[in-house]
Order: sequence, then C-alpha cells, then structure tokens
Amino acid sequence: MIYDFHTHTFLSDGASSPIELIRFAYAYGYSCIGISDHVSYSNLEKIVEPIKADCKLAEKYWDIKAVPGVELTNVPAGSISGMAKKAKELGAAYVVVHGETIVEEVEEGTNIEAVNCEYVDLLAHPGLLTLKEAELAAKNDIYVEITSRVGHSLCNGRVAKAGREAGVSFLVNSDAHSHNDLYKGDFQKEVALGSGLNEKEYEEIIKVNLKKFLKKIGYR
Ligand SMILES: [Zn+2]
Ligand SMILES: [Zn+2]
Repeated sequence: MIYDFHTHTFLSDGASSPIELIRFAYAYGYSCIGISDHVSYSNLEKIVEPIKADCKLAEKYWDIKAVPGVELTNVPAGSISGMAKKAKELGAAYVVVHGETIVEEVEEGTNIEAVNCEYVDLLAHPGLLTLKEAELAAKNDIYVEITSRVGHSLCNGRVAKAGREAGVSFLVNSDAHSHNDLYKGDFQKEVALGSGLNEKEYEEIIKVNLKKFLKKIGYR
C-alpha cells in the first residue's frame, strides 16, 4: 500500500498536471494521493478548483483516492491561520504547512503557528522540530511528516525522535515535484525506517494513521 499527501504539479512548481501525477501514482500502486500545490493568497483561488477537478476525474474512472489539498509555503507565520481557513472554505480537503526545513529561509515561528491552527492538518518537513512543537502537534491532532525530499530529509531523524517522544501521528510523504519523485516498490517504507522509525511504527502509519487522517479531513 502506498499513499502520499504531499505532491506538487505545474499549478505551482511541479512538472506534471494533476491528472498526470495521479495517473502515474495509480500505475505505481498508490491507493491514495493528495495534491498539495504551493499557495499563498496570490494563487489560492486559482489553484484549488483545477486540483479538485482532476481529483474528481481520477476517482470517477480509477480505483484511487485522489485528495485535493494545498501547501502554505513561506507565507508569513502570522497569516497561516487565516489562509488555512480560506483554503478549506475554497474546498481544499486538507492543508499542509511547509515547515521550518533547514534548507530554506522559512520564517521562524512557522512550526508553532501550524501546530496551533485548527485548520492545518499536516506539518511538512519541520526541520529542527522541538519537543514543544511536537507535543502541540500531538495534542491538536496535526500530523507530522517524514519526508523523502532531498535536503528536507536531513532532519528526519530529529523529527522521528521528537515526534515519537511526544506521541505524534506521522505520515511519510514524497513532496514529489515530478512523477519521478513518487514512491515505487518499498521506497516509502525504507524512508520511514531510514528516519529511525521501526517496523511497528511504519505498520501503524499504514494501517492506522492513513485511515485516521482521511477521517480527520472528512474523506472516506
Ligand atoms: Zn516546490
Ligand atoms: Zn512541498
């Protein structure tokens, strides 16, 4: 079983259209793919509709869950809550926040805003995640990402350790910007184990967290 809640298309800085990416995912054995293009107020309205349209199209013809989302990327930390709310109002099923990865100049305070926001569902590649941030994520039912994206993945070990200590729910995502970045074979599992999570924790992600996450975002 492969699932992925963090991917990009040419609606932001990815290489494929949403339906192309979903098609590849389906061919690679995904059971669920979320499309989460980079947004701010500049493009939020323009992006959600076409993502929704292709997700709907894919689900009509193929046996795959295709879930429309967005990723709030490098926006002012203080704007996260209002923007996440707006994204939901426009029909995004879930909201990802681009966390404080150590390889980009993300505003300090982004992680803490994200894990305190009721409209945020997933904190992506949170970099030097603190125990306090992880505890708030656990308390507020905001999922924390282990990533296979080059660069962002440098902190996976730290994220796994702090997240485990705080009892967060993890998801493992590709942050794909092209179909070449999608998972094939056992790669998703290998990324999870490479972060320091154990087999049992990986099983829990696949068997429990995925369903819980879909339920949380109102998706069956
Ligand atoms: Zn990107
Ligand atoms: Zn991303």
